[in-house]
Amino acid sequence: MMVKRGAILIKNGRVIDPSSKANTVLDIYIEGGKFSKIGKNLKASRLRSKASATERGAKVLDAGGKIVLPGLIDMHTHLREPGREDVETILSGSIAAVHGGFTSICCMPNTTPPIDDASTLNFVLEKARYAHCNVYPIAAITKERKGETLSEMAELKSLGAVGFSDDGKNIKDSLLMRRAMEYSLMLNVPIINHCEDESLSVGGNMNEGYTSTVLGLPGIPKESEEIMVARDLSLAELTGAKLHICHVSTKRSVELIREAKRRGVKVTCEVTPHHFTLTEEAVKSFNTNTKVNPPLRTKEDIKAIEKGLKDGTIDVIASDHAPHLSTEKEFEYGTAPSGMIGLQTTLPLVMKQLVERKILTLSEAVAKLTLNPAKILNLKKGQIKAGYDADLTIIDPKKQWQFTSEEIQSLSKNSPFIGWEFKGKAVCTIVGGKIEFEED
Ligand SMILES: [Zn+2]
Ligand SMILES: [Zn+2]
Repeated sequence: MMVKRGAILIKNGRVIDPSSKANTVLDIYIEGGKFSKIGKNLKASRLRSKASATERGAKVLDAGGKIVLPGLIDMHTHLREPGREDVETILSGSIAAVHGGFTSICCMPNTTPPIDDASTLNFVLEKARYAHCNVYPIAAITKERKGETLSEMAELKSLGAVGFSDDGKNIKDSLLMRRAMEYSLMLNVPIINHCEDESLSVGGNMNEGYTSTVLGLPGIPKESEEIMVARDLSLAELTGAKLHICHVSTKRSVELIREAKRRGVKVTCEVTPHHFTLTEEAVKSFNTNTKVNPPLRTKEDIKAIEKGLKDGTIDVIASDHAPHLSTEKEFEYGTAPSGMIGLQTTLPLVMKQLVERKILTLSEAVAKLTLNPAKILNLKKGQIKAGYDADLTIIDPKKQWQFTSEEIQSLSKNSPFIGWEFKGKAVCTIVGGKIEFEED
């Protein structure tokens, strides 16, 4: 059923839209869930088309002093439905998303059962209809994510999968990865890989090096990521497929991807906010919320990631939102599961670590949260353009606030950023012309 949405006129906001290079004060008129007009000094009374003449007058939002962005897209989110609805549901994850300024999220297939067949995919799509933001499923590359047999990729794509990944696990078998890439090429979807040579990382809890020795925790060498990045780049070059590499965490991975891009390999990649914010030093707290996979690395790696963000080697910033209950995280470091939530801290960490420190301009950062993921996933999103779905994120760049556990909308509260102070926050999130979040 088509939801009837009232018209909205957003006035006086500074519009930053990387696709049109806009960075100026503009008004935006939304009607029927789509962007209708974008321009200077629009007047509500003159805008209403015949179709809406019977409706009430447009709702006017004054965005003076605020920044208006295309709706943010997170291409790497873990929702725990089906299987662990106590940890996160598609609904609860979508509420956390809109509070964090995201209008679209892509959910990874490592659920129980995994999104590896039509019935589970359809289940997710059905639940997604009631979500507060757009939810696009990423389907598993292999059946049961076992790395043995390819899933019915063509069918899954035709039903709505936007990409394929066994995230959480690497595809060990190189021939199988080659076949997956060959199919993905025919289907025009990206293969999204979690690069980890598990024979090297098995049993590891944190980055391998001096700190892991001091803490007495088994390490994960950088090479476990880099070997698989190198292999996947070779296979992408061999097949011509579109490869997207998840959560790049090491200097050498960034360098390998940069070199491959120069050779014309169709590769894109992402970094998470925690990998450009925290180093292995954070593990010294033994706070299990700092346990992530890949692990937090070193200052040198962060420097390389910043350079990769600036020169375009790193295309996307993605949350890798991975909810776990505190009862699961309360074990000792070695036995706690990996992952942290991130939907509500991604934008503030981008502002704090990248924009305030002048690593990226706001427009460059926004491209990595809107236009670039939309292009990679073939979504008609990420731009403020007449005819496009009216997905918008309005941020207050001056708002000082603290991230507290009360702020967390996710069913799980596993974040090492609780208590952090931020400047800049999403204050209004509009999805398909509907206000899904508005801060009072
Ligand atoms: Zn992963
Ligand atoms: Zn993940």
